Amino acid sequence: MLKLGILGHPLSHSRSPEMQAAGLKYLGIEGSYEKFDVAIEDFADTLQTIFSKLGGLNVTIPYKEKILNYLNMRDKLVDRIGAANTVMISEGMIKGYNTDYYGFIDSVSQLKLKGKNIAVLGAGGAARAVLIALEDLEPEQINVYVRNFQKYDGNLPAVSKTNISLHLYDDNSSLAEADLVINCTPMGQGRLDDEMPLSSPQIEGLKDTAVVYDLIYSDTRLLKTARNRGLKTIDGSNMLIMQGVHSLRIWTGKPITDGLVEAMTAAFYAAIT
Ligand code: NAP
Repeated sequence: MLKLGILGHPLSHSRSPEMQAAGLKYLGIEGSYEKFDVAIEDFADTLQTIFSKLGGLNVTIPYKEKILNYLNMRDKLVDRIGAANTVMISEGMIKGYNTDYYGFIDSVSQLKLKGKNIAVLGAGGAARAVLIALEDLEPEQINVYVRNFQKYDGNLPAVSKTNISLHLYDDNSSLAEADLVINCTPMGQGRLDDEMPLSSPQIEGLKDTAVVYDLIYSDTRLLKTARNRGLKTIDGSNMLIMQGVHSLRIWTGKPITDGLVEAMTAAFYAAIT
């Protein structure tokens, strides 16, 4: 019996239980996937109990960085990104992985990003995984946009293969050069669902060939406005599904097949409708 779970706070909107149950069923593995919605003040006390019950754990907001202190092994991507969203627990070893990286890579597999100009909006945990994944796809330039320059100046992940620079949101000239714009902020989700990380004139000023990608897995105001402007858009569903598929690969050691991806994708869409 493979016991899995997800740790975060809040977890009410997580569709990982439905997705992972479908994946386990497809693979013919008897298992369970439980939600652990743990408040910040209870995190340290609860963690060892959770580890002792499980063989694998997903970690989500706000614990992807905090969990690093409790791992005794890290995949090299965890060190590069500075965050883990997947934990494997086996014979006393607690090893951290980052499958947001793989989810993002898979979600842009149709785009040719080598030599391109990419705008990343936000510089939090998800942006860090995206920046490291982008580096491996070899764009020429990454411009990161933040609202608080001081907070992130000198504090972006170390990338060596790509030029990377930090901007405030009102730097329209660099935005106008972007081939791909990626929203890595929560603007457009939950209580911020009516907000956009870019203004309408900024979206209007993007290249006609620009693609707008929102990591949020719904049709946000940003995506609707970009589509009305005639731009191609991508939402965060595929990244979310694929990070889950890669987590299950790590926990079970089973390869990713089209059938597994289809089963988990169907469960994800059934759970959000
Ligand atoms: P995070 O670590 O809290 O980072 C959020 C970033 O957005 C920070 O740079 C923050 O800037 C910025 N931000 C927050 N509110 C803002 C506002 N009102 N105006 C401008 N910037 C703002 O969060 P995260 O884990 O990176 O997640 C970001 C988003 O990505 C969430 O919506 C999450 O659901 C989504 N996500 C999707 C996937 C997927 O698989 N599709 C995976 C991971 C995350 P400050 O530092 O200045 O506050």
